[in-house]
Parts: sequence; structure tokens; C-alpha cells
Amino acid sequence: MSERKRVFSGIQPTGEPHLGNYLGAVRNWVDRQDEHDSFFCIVDLHAMTLPWSPDELRERSVATGALLLACGIDPDRSTLFIQSHVAEHTELAWILSCVARMGELRRMVQFKEKSKGETESVGAGILTYPVLQAADVLLYQAHGVPVGEDQRQHIELMRDLGTRFNKALGRTFVIPEPWIATEGAKILALDDPGEKMSKSSTRPGSFISVSDPPEVVAKKLRSAVTDSGREVTVGEDKPALTNLLTIYSILEGTPVAELVERFAGGGYAPFKQALAECVVEHLRPIRERYLELKADPVELDRLLGHGAKRAADVAEATMIEVRRRAGLGPRP
Ligand code: ATP
Ligand code: MG
Repeated sequence: MSERKRVFSGIQPTGEPHLGNYLGAVRNWVDRQDEHDSFFCIVDLHAMTLPWSPDELRERSVATGALLLACGIDPDRSTLFIQSHVAEHTELAWILSCVARMGELRRMVQFKEKSKGETESVGAGILTYPVLQAADVLLYQAHGVPVGEDQRQHIELMRDLGTRFNKALGRTFVIPEPWIATEGAKILALDDPGEKMSKSSTRPGSFISVSDPPEVVAKKLRSAVTDSGREVTVGEDKPALTNLLTIYSILEGTPVAELVERFAGGGYAPFKQALAECVVEHLRPIRERYLELKADPVELDRLLGHGAKRAADVAEATMIEVRRRAGLGPRP
């Protein structure tokens, strides 16, 4: 067991997980459970960086847990838990925020995007959440962080913070590597291929939730924007079609070139219909299992509680070392 490399990754309970989350991240988590000692976290504290609803936060966290289980995360093989249940995340985040520099946080692309130019009035969490993210990963001494392309810069930051701490105070943290899939690492919004698909988008037509019913999936794909022209093909000037073909290719396990050949000359409508059938068939068992799991909140709480205990054991061992190195000393 201890020979296996450790992985850590998280997902925010900011909305219903979508195809981008599934293809870019969760699918790779599921595939790696045997090979790796896995920690998967529902990062509820991160979901507070933008205005949030207290009534919905806990419900969404538990629902996200149900969805991850439905996607194939096995609570016997992986440690699945809610971030705020393990207090060490916030403790380490504070210590790392004293190691981080303002300039490097301001340089984060997501800070620039999420603050939308309102850098003075936006919540300070938008600036500092990458430090909490660094704490999330470094606490578990993770070797690999399987994420989508949008997280590459944050992983670079956590590597810098871990390295800086190690150099100043002695080797404490494993320095994690980004594990970013070669395909599906950046699934684009269906209505605007200039943006990535996002859970927190206010435009439901921009994403397909893993739990969307079949008729909704079909409708969203019918309305998905396509590029100019009539041919189903890929290319730098065809971001929308490339995106749809990528989704199809990963789900069906067919190379894109073969799909292009299959749909040659038929126009967009039959292609979109076949893609809808493929997505619906793939999501059907996940959706069914999700609805079953959500109907048993007591069992979900039990599973997430069990995960939090396992996570806390590892987190506490790291924090004993961090407190010692930082000069805080042992707790009475
Ligand atoms: P939010 O809009 O609230 O930030 P999100 O859709 O970006 O939500 P996160 O919870 O931030 O989802 O990210 C969960 C994981 O999914 C991360 O590993 C992230 O890199 C990955 N991911 C997010 N969006 C995409 C996407 N469009 N394509 C591929 N991977 C993605
Ligand atoms: Mg995100």
C-alpha cells in the first residue's frame, strides 16, 4: 500500500458537475484508484470565494459526493471527504499565506478572470484561494494532482510554496506534479467556444451536467454553436466542432479522424443527434446511481464521515511536522 504514489484532487460544490469536470478530471480519478493512494475532496471552503447560499452549500457538497460515487469513486479504495471536515486545511493555508507573496497571487489568471477588473472590491478569498488549494494538496504529501488544464498555474504556485517552505525550514512537503490528461483537459462551453465549460456559469446551455436527463442533453447539444461551414471536421478555425468531436471521441473511445470520416457529407444535424445518443448512453448509469445515492442521505453522511476520519489522520501527521518546523511546537 505505502509503495503506491499518492494523488489528491478536488472539486467545488458550486453547481452540478459537468462533462468537462468528468472528462478532464473525475474520469482520470476513477481510473487511477487501484494504482494510487487517492484522496478526493469536495472543496466546500473554495465555494465560499464567490457569494454563496448557506442553505445550498451543505446540500450541494453532499450531492457532489453522491455524484463522485456514481461516477465510480469507490470509498473503500479512495478517501472521499468534505474539505471543511478536516480543519488542518485552513490551518496550513494560513501558514502558507505567510510564505506566499502578493505579486505571485495577483499574477494568477483565475484571479484576474474572477475579479473581472474589480480587484479592490472583490472578496479577498478570490486572491488567496490558490493558497488554500496549495494547503489542500501539500497536507496529503501528494505526488500527483489530476486536474484540467485551467489548474496548471495553481499547481505551479503550490510547487513554489512547498519548495520555499522546504528550503527555509527543512524538507517537509512532497512537491506535487500536475497530471493533466492529453485529451479532454479543456472542454469548452457549448454556447461559446471562447470559454471553458464551467459549473458556476449562469448560462445552463453552456454545459451538460452529468446528471442532466436525456431530453435536456439532446436539447443542449442541438443548440450547441457550430463553426462556419457545413462539414463535421476539426481544426484551429473549428473550435466548436473540435470540442464536440473531442467529447464524442473520448466517450466512445473512437479516434477523432474516424468520427470525421463517419459523419462526412451529412451536415451538422445527424452528427449532433448521434453525439446526443452517445452522451446519454454514457451518462445513463451514472445518473441512475446518482439518484439512488441521493435518496439515502444517512448512508452518504456515513461514507463522507468515514473519509474525513481517514483524511484527518494523514493531515494531522503532516501538521505535527509543519508546526514543529515553523516553531509553533507541539500542542498541549
Ligand atoms: P467553477 O466554475 O465553480 O470554478 P468548474 O467547472 O471550473 O467550476 P471546479 O470544481 O473548479 O469546476 O474544478 C474541478 C476539476 O474539473 C478541476 O480539476 C478542473 O481543472 C476540472 N475542470 C473544470 N472545468 C473543466 C473543463 N471545462 N474541462 C476540463 N476540465 C475541467
Ligand atoms: Mg473552476
